[in-house]
Amino acid sequence: MRKNIVAGNWKMNKTYQDAQALVSEIDNMVKDEVSGDNVEVIVTPPFPFLHSISKLIQGNSRMHLAAQDVSAHESGAYTGEVSASMLKSVGVEYVLVGHSERRQYHNEDADLLLKKMKAALAQGIKPIFCCGEPLEVREADDHFKYVAQQLRETVAHLSNEEFDQIVIAYEPIWAIGTGRTASSAQAQEMHASIREELSRLFNAEAAYNKTILYGGSANPGNAKELFAQPDVDGGLIGGASLKSRDFTDIIKSF
Ligand code: PGA
Repeated sequence: MRKNIVAGNWKMNKTYQDAQALVSEIDNMVKDEVSGDNVEVIVTPPFPFLHSISKLIQGNSRMHLAAQDVSAHESGAYTGEVSASMLKSVGVEYVLVGHSERRQYHNEDADLLLKKMKAALAQGIKPIFCCGEPLEVREADDHFKYVAQQLRETVAHLSNEEFDQIVIAYEPIWAIGTGRTASSAQAQEMHASIREELSRLFNAEAAYNKTILYGGSANPGNAKELFAQPDVDGGLIGGASLKSRDFTDIIKSF
């Protein structure tokens, strides 16, 4: 069964104290205002806050924890890196892999992204694999090919069992943090195209069941229309996930 997910990516924001306050507010609002179990909520705080936030959300079965990054290595002399087993040991269930900011500012290529996904999966952590085209590719009308290629050079190398564990997030780079959201029609046609590609790479059933999130300036004003699209199964939310009211309203858009 395809799962609906709203994931907040906090990026490099908040102090420890602010992070505790934000997640407590989200936790309470989700408990009070979100009924049914048709949506899973994920928060993605910076590394130093993962452990305390894991404890904070323990009693709320709807809330889950993700990390923003993971090392491709298991352990050892890799100063500054954080391994999948470390993340696992503090209660992390998901990890972002392939976010455009990691690809762009940290030169993460397809080979490294695949290693990171495999490292996470080996510890039972589910990768949220991000893909999406820059503006010039969209303007050249090459966006479907570009995103399909991103899937072919990474996701295609997973086993069927591994593929079942991952979540896909489509994030057009021109929409991230710009206030310029993809229209619901643009999101839908890309999500449908991603699902078709996944069907070719794996099989129709696995592709049908895959959760595909939209990311890029999603907010309480546009989430309802985006989530109403048949192939949009939720959102990866940056800016609006830093405000408990906005984030909860997005969760309630299902
Ligand atoms: P945004 O970020 O919602 O601030 O555009 C989305 C993301 O980068 O995941």
